[in-house]
Amino acid sequence: MSEPIISMKNVDYAYENKAVLSNINFEIPQGAFMGLVGPNGGGKTTLIKLILGILKPDHGEISLFNEPIGKFRAWNHIGFVSQKSNSFNKGFPATVFEVVSMGLTAKVGYLKFFTKKHKAEILKAIDQVGMGEYAYQNIGNLSGGQQQRVFIARSLVNDPKLLILDEPTVGVDNENVQRFYDLLHQLNQERNITLLLVTHDTGIMTEHATDIVCLNKTLYFHGDPKEYSSLTDRDLSRFYGHPVNLVTHDH
Ligand code: ADP
Repeated sequence: MSEPIISMKNVDYAYENKAVLSNINFEIPQGAFMGLVGPNGGGKTTLIKLILGILKPDHGEISLFNEPIGKFRAWNHIGFVSQKSNSFNKGFPATVFEVVSMGLTAKVGYLKFFTKKHKAEILKAIDQVGMGEYAYQNIGNLSGGQQQRVFIARSLVNDPKLLILDEPTVGVDNENVQRFYDLLHQLNQERNITLLLVTHDTGIMTEHATDIVCLNKTLYFHGDPKEYSSLTDRDLSRFYGHPVNLVTHDH
C-alpha cells in the first residue's frame, strides 16, 4: 500500500455550536484519484478547508505527506482549483500566460522578472493542459472549461503532488467536462499527481476515480467506483436524506 498523502483520524469540526463534521477517518493513498461526493451542506468544503489548513479541527488529527498538519510546510506540493476560479469577466486584462505565471509568485516573488527558465516552465504547463495556442489571449475571452484548464496550469508550475479541486466543472458544458476529466486522468496517470475532486458529476466521476468518499456530516461510504455503483437508490436516498436516482454513463 502506498504512503497516505492525506490522513484524517477522528476529526470533528463545528462552526460556533453547529457540528458539521463528526468522527471523520480516512486516508488518501499516493496516486489515488479520489472523488468526494455528498449533499449540499454535507461538509465537503469544510473538509477541504481543514486539509488546506484554513480551519483547524476541534478534535482529531490531520497529516499531510506523513507530517502532522501543524508542522507541514511544503504547501507548494498542494495545488487548489475552486469552482469560483472560472469567473473572469470578458475583457479581464490578463493573458493566459500572466495568469499561469501567478502560480510561480510563491517561488519567485511578486514584481520580480521571470527568467527564461521560468518562462519555459509556464509555457510547458500551458501546453500540458492543451492551451498552448491561447497562451497570449485574454483569459476573460475563454470559455469556462478553458479557464479551468488554465487554473490547473497555474497549479502545475509548482509541480504539485496533490491537486484538490472543488467542483471545478460547475458552469462547464458537457463536452468540455469530458475533456476536463480526460486531462485529470492524464495528470493522475502520467504525472502521478494525487487528485481529490469534489463533484456532483457522479456518473462521469465513477469512470475515472479510483476511490469514492461520500460525506454527509460523517463518512457514509468509502470504496471503489464499482462498490459505489452497486449502492442502490435506497442506500443513496438514506445517505442524501432525500430520493436519489444514481445516474451512470453507459460506455
Ligand atoms: P458542502 O461543501 O458539502 O456544501 P459546507 O462545508 O459548505 O458543505 O457546509 C457544511 C455546513 O456548514 C452547512 O450547513 C453550512 O451552512 C455550514 N457552514 C459553512 N460555512 C460556515 C460558516 N463560515 N459559518 C457557519 N456555518 C457554516
